[in-house]
Amino acid sequence: MTAVYIARCADYDRDSLQAAVQETVDGLGGLAGLIRPGWRVLLKPNLLRPAAPEQGVSTHPELVRAVAQLVLDAGATPVIADSPGGPHNRAYLAVLYRQSGMHEVARELGIDCNDDMRTTSVSNLDGDLLKGVEMLAVAAEADAIINLPKLKTHSFTLLSGAVKNLFGVIPGMGKTAYHAKLQTAHEFSRMLVDLALVCKPVITIMDGVLGMEGNGPSAGDVRRVGVILGSTDDLALDVVAAALVGMDPQQVPPLAVATARGLTTGRLEDVELRGLPLEQARLDPPFRLPTAATARRGPSILGAISRVWPGQVTKPYPVANADCTACRTCVRACPVKAITIENGRARMATNLCIQCYCCHELCPYHAIDLQLHWLGRLLTRSTGGNHGQSRH
Ligand code: SF4
Ligand code: SF4
Repeated sequence: MTAVYIARCADYDRDSLQAAVQETVDGLGGLAGLIRPGWRVLLKPNLLRPAAPEQGVSTHPELVRAVAQLVLDAGATPVIADSPGGPHNRAYLAVLYRQSGMHEVARELGIDCNDDMRTTSVSNLDGDLLKGVEMLAVAAEADAIINLPKLKTHSFTLLSGAVKNLFGVIPGMGKTAYHAKLQTAHEFSRMLVDLALVCKPVITIMDGVLGMEGNGPSAGDVRRVGVILGSTDDLALDVVAAALVGMDPQQVPPLAVATARGLTTGRLEDVELRGLPLEQARLDPPFRLPTAATARRGPSILGAISRVWPGQVTKPYPVANADCTACRTCVRACPVKAITIENGRARMATNLCIQCYCCHELCPYHAIDLQLHWLGRLLTRSTGGNHGQSRH
C-alpha cells in the first residue's frame, strides 16, 4: 500500500517549513533511498506564469529551498526547472524565475535555475495515448525528478495536483498543440497520465500551505490549507489531495483515467496515511470549485444537461473584461487562434473556442471572466445555481 504523508505547516516561515518538509521526507523513509550522491536532480515546481509567491499561483520558493537543501545534503545537485505556458526562451524564463522567487533561492544556495532551452524526443511506446514526447532536455536527462506541485483547483482538470504539474516538462507553446489535439478533459488526462509515467518522479512534495480555490490554477482565490503532502506515488498523493479539499477523487479526470488503467484504485482506503490524520487536515468548507467544473457537474438542471450534452450551452466561455490591457498573452496562448484584439480588448470567437481555458490560466491581469451561454445562465438562474460569471 502506498504511503502519503501529511505534515501541518501553518505558513512559509523558513524554519517551520524546513521542519515540515524534513518531517514529510523522513516520514516516507528519507531521500537516501531515492537519490544518490553525484546525481543531478530536477526540482519541478509549478511555475505557471510569472507571479509573486503571495499570489498563490506558484510553488512557494521556501518549499523549493527546503527540498533543494535536502538534495544538497544528500550529496546530489539540484536544478530548478519548469517551462511555463508562454514563450520558450531565456528572457521569459528569467522573468519567471525572478518573480516567483526561484532566482533568489538558487542564488543563495549556489544552485541553478535551468536555462538550457534544448528539448529531447523521448519514446514511450507502451503509452496509452502518448507514444513519444518532445520534452525539456533537463528533465529527460536528469537522474531523478522531484515533483513540487501546488494545491490548486483547475478549470480544465479540476485539480492542479501532482500529475498535472508534470505537464510543465513540455516546452512552452508545445503545450498548446496538446490542447488543440486533446480537447476533452478525459483525452487530455490520458496524455497527462502517460507523461507522469514517463517522468516517474522519485518523490512528490506538495505545497499545500496556501492553496487556491475557485477559478484556479491562476485566477482563483488564495486559501490557507496549512499542510505539506508527500508521497513516492504521485497518483496516491492526488487522491489524498483531492479528498483533503473536498473533491471526489473519481471526479478528477487524471485520477479517473489512471483508475481505469489500473494504475491506482483511486480510493482513499487504499492509501496508507501517515502523519497528521486526514480528518484534522480536511478542509471545511471544501474548496470552491471552478466555474467550469460546477457548470459541468452541478446538481442543477444545467449539470444534468451538461452530462448528456456537453458543449456550448453548458460550458462557460472566456470573455475579456475591462481590465484587459491588450497584452496579447492570451492571443499567443490560444491553441486554435480564437482570440483577436479589437478596440484595445481581447475578443474570443465562441465558434472557434474549444474551452481549454489556457487564456484564463495565463492572463496576467485576471482580465478574463468565464461566462455561460445565455441559455445556460437562464437554466442556472431558474434552478438557483451560481454559475453565471466568475472573475476570480
Ligand atoms: S485578456 Fe488578459 S492576456 Fe488577453 S490581452 Fe487582455 S490582458 Fe492580455
Ligand atoms: S479562447 Fe481561451 S478557452 Fe477558448 S480555445 Fe482559446 S485559449 Fe482555449
